[in-house]
Amino acid sequence: MNNDFLPLATKGVQGLNPYQPGKPIDELERELGLKNIIKLASNENPLGPSPMATKVITANLADLSRYPDGNGYRLRNKLAVKLGVAEEQITLGNGSNDILELVGRAFLMPGHEVIYSRHSFAVYPLVVQASGAAAVVTDAKNWGNDLAAMLAAVTETTRLIFLANPNNPTGTWVDRISLQGFLGKLPANIVVVLDEAYFEYVTEPGYPDGLNLLKNFPNVIVTRTFSKAYGLAGLRVGYGISNNSIADILNRVRQPFNVNSLALAAAEAALDDMAFIETSKKMNTAGMKQLTSAFDDLGLSYIPSVANFVAVKVGQHTKTLSAMTVYEKLLQSGVIVRPVANYDMPDYLRITIGTKQENEKFIGLLRQILLSK
Ligand SMILES: *Cc1c(COP(=O)(O)O)cnc(C)c1O
Repeated sequence: MNNDFLPLATKGVQGLNPYQPGKPIDELERELGLKNIIKLASNENPLGPSPMATKVITANLADLSRYPDGNGYRLRNKLAVKLGVAEEQITLGNGSNDILELVGRAFLMPGHEVIYSRHSFAVYPLVVQASGAAAVVTDAKNWGNDLAAMLAAVTETTRLIFLANPNNPTGTWVDRISLQGFLGKLPANIVVVLDEAYFEYVTEPGYPDGLNLLKNFPNVIVTRTFSKAYGLAGLRVGYGISNNSIADILNRVRQPFNVNSLALAAAEAALDDMAFIETSKKMNTAGMKQLTSAFDDLGLSYIPSVANFVAVKVGQHTKTLSAMTVYEKLLQSGVIVRPVANYDMPDYLRITIGTKQENEKFIGLLRQILLSK
């Protein structure tokens, strides 16, 4: 009997390599029989969710037999007021990855080209590959998006561009003037996804708020999420902001109940807790300093990052310890970080900024590993 159905899958799906998530805490606990594991691997908020979000979840448990509001009326309304856009411009997603998928499903087919940069977010190749479109991967400049190279890669069949600002896993960013210049030179029929998953963390004055670009550039879709600064990654809720026409298209391919009721309620409550975002942001800025000073101390180079993670080069430190070895040794001591060889960065590890104590423990272990080999 033939149990291999892969030949029956579409060509795009046949070529897919599943996304590799950070190692879950549970899994490492089972493997090592350890407690107090520290996870600095998935850019999650180390403070957990806002207490206001957890509180409404309990209050909403009794309604779990009901379908959620398929239009997400209250959350969209609240986001619209907060962001100064119309409700019709907002598309809710099961995480912002869902929005990336919807864009792929709505706009891409075989014969189209999609441009994104080397070292950019791993979901972009997945979306492109699944649709049967062709990926055009441009070289990076100082590890970040090279806008000139992306412009040069545009052809008649370019349908879509993915641009993460800041980018994951490099933490690099594009400034307002460069981004405006780029969009101004781009043919208006190319859809641009401006992925702002780490928007809330960025403190650089020259960092552009993508929403201000929507008026002049109706081909832009901004995506944001409750998974990172808002601390709700486990609930899966994110959103896209675009002009009405694009939002209407995304809504046609969206599953009617793609965001569950607890996620809707928690996200709404989280929007009321701006003090939590402020605290998270301050802790992140301090934690970034803590980590990068330690890297300087250890003579390790890293990619300057404006997000809640930093990519550090450990493979170069010694010829005998590869980044993968350092990763494994950290794991054995109960600290999970992220190897990024699958992003074409085999000498780097991506470290999510944790609490002060978590960072301290990580730094101590890293020092031990590097100096005692
Ligand atoms: C984490 C991340 C996302 C979104 O994740 P969701 O949990 O699906 O909202 C999107 N883009 C980038 C670049 C990310 O790092």
